[in-house]
Amino acid sequence: MIVADRKKIPEIRDMIRSHKRVLLVGCGTCVTVCLAGGEREVGILGSALRMSLKLAGCTVAVDEYTIERQCEDAFIDALAPRVKEYDAIVSLGCGAGVQTLAERFPTTPVYPGLNTQFIGILESQGVWTEKCLGCGHCRLGEFAGVCPITRCAKRLLNGPCGGSREGKCEIHADTECAWQRIYDRAKALGILAKFDAIAQPHDWSTGIDGGPRKVIREDQCIAGMGPKA
Ligand code: SF4
Ligand code: SF4
Repeated sequence: MIVADRKKIPEIRDMIRSHKRVLLVGCGTCVTVCLAGGEREVGILGSALRMSLKLAGCTVAVDEYTIERQCEDAFIDALAPRVKEYDAIVSLGCGAGVQTLAERFPTTPVYPGLNTQFIGILESQGVWTEKCLGCGHCRLGEFAGVCPITRCAKRLLNGPCGGSREGKCEIHADTECAWQRIYDRAKALGILAKFDAIAQPHDWSTGIDGGPRKVIREDQCIAGMGPKA
């Protein structure tokens, strides 16, 4: 899932203080699961913002609404009739959700209420960790299902750096060494011999550095409508 956390109240307050009526919009998917932008968090943010605005002497009305998903136009239909009553939106969706709302409502300012962090998982209560950079060319099959591109601080593809201690990374002592994980899993799977071969350098041409990427599934495109330019 996409993991995000909420911006600090003063930052959100200062983005909206010049407006009169602001709608906080939550999203019912990833950001609900990571406890950053669901209905509950929208309610908490609403109360905190109203108090903060009052203390700062600002008269901004703040209301709350949560939709099932912000990153798909069809789900935004439920929100659309309300938006004309407001002069700004604070989105508690991920960066994709914020931008989808901004495209759908071109004359309404849309501000981010969250900092989108990464693709990851809930590791333990209250702790989320990054698992995938979305590199566009998944090589988990080569590395016993553990991603060294994301989880090794040095992105090493051919074994550990030698700095690992007791299974932890030398860069972050509270983080597992990715190569220790790869080794342990490969041993358990009986595939250690696979690692005698040199892993090829990663092809970064499928990554983000060339600008925004697209996935086009011709079999899913509707004839005549094509993908958006
Ligand atoms: S190899 Fe690429 S796509 Fe696969 S988990 Fe790692 S970063 Fe994600
Ligand atoms: S200690 Fe392990 S995870 Fe950390 S940089 Fe070295 S090989 Fe990578």
